[in-house]
Amino acid sequence: MIRHRLRILVVVPGSAFLAGHAGAAPTIPLPEPGSGPELPTMLVILGLLMTVVASELVHPLRARSDATSRRWIGNLSLCILSNGIFVLPAITAFAAAFVSQLEQENLLTSLGLPSPIRVGIAIVGLDALAYGQHRLLHRVDILWRFHAVHHSDPEVDATTTFRHHPIEAIFNGALIGGVVLAVGFSPAEIAAYTWFSFVVELIAHANLALPLWLSGVVSRVIVTPEFHQLHHSRANSEANANFGQALSVWDRLFGTARTRSPKEASLLEFGLDQFRAQRFHLPHYLLAQPLLPRTDGPAVSAALSP
Ligand SMILES: [Zn+2]
Ligand SMILES: [Zn+2]
Repeated sequence: MIRHRLRILVVVPGSAFLAGHAGAAPTIPLPEPGSGPELPTMLVILGLLMTVVASELVHPLRARSDATSRRWIGNLSLCILSNGIFVLPAITAFAAAFVSQLEQENLLTSLGLPSPIRVGIAIVGLDALAYGQHRLLHRVDILWRFHAVHHSDPEVDATTTFRHHPIEAIFNGALIGGVVLAVGFSPAEIAAYTWFSFVVELIAHANLALPLWLSGVVSRVIVTPEFHQLHHSRANSEANANFGQALSVWDRLFGTARTRSPKEASLLEFGLDQFRAQRFHLPHYLLAQPLLPRTDGPAVSAALSP
């Protein structure tokens, strides 16, 4: 049984471009336990990414700037650079899942719930945790410095999904790993959530417009591009809203949901004023960004304002 479990593959979007086994943060997809070689998973991730990127190229919601190619290099480099560092939180999170499964007693096991309900609890519970974690990233100054790398992208598209500083990934992995250990989610349940979350996040960052009727219905429960991209706004009040990762219900529940009319949404400006220069998209600047002196400004202080 243990041997069977150890064959589980952990995959990060982006690591699919690399040879061999890859590391992962807990917000990325992985195949279910016992699945075979990584190729099908890699192809699914690559296929999803290419589909969204191709759709953006054919029918973008906003015009691309001259910085696009430089941004892509920076964002995807950060993703690839993060692969090695992501191993630690991945091991933490999934080791926690393995250990919790090996132990006879944990919270979920003691409840004796059927599998579908456990999966539902995993999806809702882990997303609630992601919401709280995201609010923390904005609230605590040192955490905001690292999370600000995600917010400093002056445009938002599919590649922004991968623009996270490795230290932020480690923090996220450690926190989620601890919860997984305490509650007793299985690797398969984590897989269910990470796939769901990854697809929603990829689409939510895409430079695409969903049909209004579809967006209106879906956004009541699930994070849509309109919903999440407002979170990337230069405006302080909007950057501190719409924290949801996959489900939008948490923002509605806790009063942090914001919206713009479709006309106003088309005028959205993204990023942090301090990091607009082209050099800040270079990989080494992205890694060093948390250490750079900050200037005062509405976007920079976004983390500190409610
Ligand atoms: Zn944020
Ligand atoms: Zn984002």
